[in-house]
Amino acid sequence: MTLVAVRVGLLVALLGGACGATTAPHQSLAGKLFVVDPGHGVRYPDGNPLNVGAVGSGGIEEMKLTLAIGEDLARRLRHAGARVVLTRSYARPFRIATDRRKDNRARAALANHLGATAFVSVHADGSLDPGKRGTSVFWLRSNSAALARAVRAQLAPLGLGESEFRTRDLAVTSEAVVPAVLVEVGFVSNPAQARLLATPSFQEREAQALFDAIAQVFGS
Ligand SMILES: [Zn+2]
Repeated sequence: MTLVAVRVGLLVALLGGACGATTAPHQSLAGKLFVVDPGHGVRYPDGNPLNVGAVGSGGIEEMKLTLAIGEDLARRLRHAGARVVLTRSYARPFRIATDRRKDNRARAALANHLGATAFVSVHADGSLDPGKRGTSVFWLRSNSAALARAVRAQLAPLGLGESEFRTRDLAVTSEAVVPAVLVEVGFVSNPAQARLLATPSFQEREAQALFDAIAQVFGS
C-alpha cells in the first residue's frame, strides 16, 4: 500500500516536472481565446475535394500534418488555461465550402467575430524544387509583428532553416484584424523535412514551439 502510494507520488512528481520543463516561463493564458487554424482540409458540399493542400515526399499530406499540429497546439493552450476554437478538428476534419479564398477569409473572420487574442494558421510548404527547405512566418498588420517574431525565434531551434519571414497579403492575414500569423512549418516536398514532419515527436516539437511563442507574447 505504502509502496503504491510512493509510486503514485513519484509518477505525479515526474509528470509535473516534465510539464514544467517543457512550457515557457510565462505560461498562464487564462481568460485568453485563441483561434487555431489547421490549413486546408476543405470539401465541396458534394464531397469532392476543394482545398487539400500540398502532398509531399513519401505521400505526407499537408492537411493531415497541420491538423495534428493544430490539435496538439490547442491542447497545450487549453492546458495553460486558454479557450481555443479550432477551424477544423479531429472531430470535424473537413470544412465544407465552394470557394477556397472565401473559406480562408471565413477562418480569420471567425477570430475577429470572437474577439480572439490571436489567430494562428498552420500550414506546410510545398515546392517543385525538392531542395527548398525551411519554415516561414507571414503576417500583415503591425499588431501581429510581435507574435511573428516570437514564432520565428521559437521555430529556429528546430533546425529546419528559414524560408521566408515577411509581411504578406494573404486571405487570412488581410481578413484578420486581431493579431494573426500564418506559419509554414517546413517543406513537405523536401524529403528530409518530410521525414521529420511525418514524425509525431517532431510534430509535438512544432506545436510546443508555437505554444511557447504565444505564451511569450500573450502569457502572464
Ligand atoms: Zn498550405
